[in-house]
Amino acid sequence: MSTFLMQPCPDDPILSLIGMFRDDPRSTKIDLSVGVFRNEEGQTPVLHAVKQAESHLVATQPTKTYLGPVGNTAFTAAVARMAFGEARAQRLSGLQTPGGTGALRVAADLLARNANTGRIWIGLPTWSNHIPVFEAAGLEILTYGAIDIAAQRFDLDALQAALAAARPGDAVLLQGCCHNPTGIDPDSAQWAAIAALLEEKGLLPLIDLAYQGLGRGISEDGEAAGRVLDTVPDALVAYSCNKNFGLYRERVGALFIQAENAAARQAAASNAADLVRANYSMPPDHGAAVVACILGDAQLTQDWKAELEAMRTRLATIRNALAEACSTHGLALEAIARQRGMFSRLALAPSAISALREEHAIYMAPDGRINLAGLAMADVARLAAALARECA
Ligand code: PMP
Repeated sequence: MSTFLMQPCPDDPILSLIGMFRDDPRSTKIDLSVGVFRNEEGQTPVLHAVKQAESHLVATQPTKTYLGPVGNTAFTAAVARMAFGEARAQRLSGLQTPGGTGALRVAADLLARNANTGRIWIGLPTWSNHIPVFEAAGLEILTYGAIDIAAQRFDLDALQAALAAARPGDAVLLQGCCHNPTGIDPDSAQWAAIAALLEEKGLLPLIDLAYQGLGRGISEDGEAAGRVLDTVPDALVAYSCNKNFGLYRERVGALFIQAENAAARQAAASNAADLVRANYSMPPDHGAAVVACILGDAQLTQDWKAELEAMRTRLATIRNALAEACSTHGLALEAIARQRGMFSRLALAPSAISALREEHAIYMAPDGRINLAGLAMADVARLAAALARECA
């Protein structure tokens, strides 16, 4: 008999959808389920700026010796400057992490180790891995309905009502832009109200910034995070470079720590590094070295920004086209055009989601999340017609 007495975990629903999609013989099939950027041809190519940086690194990298738990400091400094501007970057301690997920997990471990933190508020719906990451670190999780899917709007009242019960030192998870899974971000007045509430109640924001530049623009998508950093003394930011640099499997991210004074910040940063040491020891080098190379070179930065702009423009164009096509069928989905980033969550019954897959070969996540980047312009009319049929 095996020593292992465990039951298998249920399959990830997105992974089983990937298998179903692959095995679907219909040539008209459309995959809106997986959360990666795709171009009009359905591909996720390596960016030219990344290829150039990689060639440069291969030719010039002098050593592959260890960097230590905080990783590549040129990378974290350059990302902080790009994401939040020079003045805020000065106030942040950065730690390179294995992706945004790694940053979230190190943040969660830090909150679990610190004496007066240990609870985290999470607005729902949210990215499917958020709750597992915080649970794995042993945090107490408190949820509230942050987004009204039927009305396709951010529900500030629900956030304020929930956080009325928050205690000083509680963490609050906030997605900085391009909300996954809804594309619905607070507007600027709502962010001001959120920042003021955090400050007033002594709460600790954990800002998850995984899509900077894919919404309105690099600086625009960093505005909310910047506003929160300017309003509260202590804050954490979990940053991902995997979407905006197209580096997914290279696992590129960073955790940024802001604290009321230098001693508290250094103590928090050294604890984060200590937690990393006992976990994965240090982050993988390559992807962060690529980003540091791009951000350290004016021409490569310009090339990357142009490629990022092309991704952003494709998302905005496909959103407008889908909203427009739906309206010709009398389907009021104009909210899709106002939302930002890769995702929207459609208020569809499970039966409609199955019918779209079975009858129309249109695949989406089981909760109705669609990735707009999975849609080619040529398929917009067909998706709108199928949605109109199945939503009727
Ligand atoms: N946060 C959000 C909201 C995400 O959607 C994702 C990726 N799907 C991540 C964090 C983490 O991404 P990664 O670990 O690939 O950087």
